[in-house]
Amino acid sequence: MIVVLKAGVEPEKQERLVDWLKESGVDVHVSVGEYQTVLGLVGDTAKIDMDLIESLDIVDSVKRVSETFKQANRKFHPEDTVVTIGDVKIGGGNFALIAGPCSVESEEQIVSIARDVKAAGANMLRGGAFKPRTSPYDFQGLKAEGLELLKIARRETGLPIVSEIMNVGDIGLFEDVDLLQVGARNMQNFDLLRELGHTDKPILLKRGLANTLKELLMSAEYIMASGNDRIILCERGIRTFGDYFRNTLDLSAVPMLHELSHLPVIVDPSHATGIARMVAPMALAATAAGSDGLIIEVHNDPAHALCDGAQSIRPEEYADLVGKIKAVREALV
Ligand code: PEP
Ligand code: MN
Repeated sequence: MIVVLKAGVEPEKQERLVDWLKESGVDVHVSVGEYQTVLGLVGDTAKIDMDLIESLDIVDSVKRVSETFKQANRKFHPEDTVVTIGDVKIGGGNFALIAGPCSVESEEQIVSIARDVKAAGANMLRGGAFKPRTSPYDFQGLKAEGLELLKIARRETGLPIVSEIMNVGDIGLFEDVDLLQVGARNMQNFDLLRELGHTDKPILLKRGLANTLKELLMSAEYIMASGNDRIILCERGIRTFGDYFRNTLDLSAVPMLHELSHLPVIVDPSHATGIARMVAPMALAATAAGSDGLIIEVHNDPAHALCDGAQSIRPEEYADLVGKIKAVREALV
């Protein structure tokens, strides 16, 4: 249930209402916006008398929410959430340019790519250390060593690092990773989501290969229900009957997620298409659709990449693309 207060309500009156609602057995999330304050009632609201609340002089309106996601819901939190990672802000008009290889392969590889993407304008470095591969015979990532190499690249460039966590038991290893990615295959690993909710780490939550937007938001809700609201949603393509692409980029997810939720939304055009030459057009389209950032696979030697070479663009292509992304953003203002 959502209670919208009238503008300029005295703080004591608001406090009295919140205390009274809590005594009725519900949790109350207070969201103070520029123009209005919204109370989000979570829990068993069945016993709450809507008409009674609506009749109070400080209340503007009361609505029952049928959505099952509450903390991620924009109705409870009308302002955009801005996730801060070091000096980088994502959401609320702040754009993330995350770039780097699919997998960390060596110190030389990750440091060189990190320098290149930074020079091109990226503000975060990606690199998989634990890789979810379809075949158990494919390169599985350098694991803990890969995370150490990412930290070296961070020291060399100052870029915050993003890497995928697959297992609850690895959370300790990620203590010094700036942004933890939950990959598409783990979007509904509820134990992992719950445990990540107990950390204070920012989480990049990717949409599952065959998951709906509601399911994505429910997964965000798992993390938030455990106390962590530093979440960035990511559209990375879904399985459809499209036959020429690795996945189908569901760009309409971007404005819809923005409508449904206050969390930042970014797009991954690399995994969405699986084809390097498709990355730039879809990155630009995602920017135009209102994405809060882009995570793009960049490799200095795609032909010899240990993972996802076919969809990796070269640093010079990335630099060219960043210029175009900035132009699209300027055109949107
Ligand atoms: C990745 O980012 O390298 C990755 C495996 O992404 P996804 O989970 O979207 O497939
Ligand atoms: Mn990849």
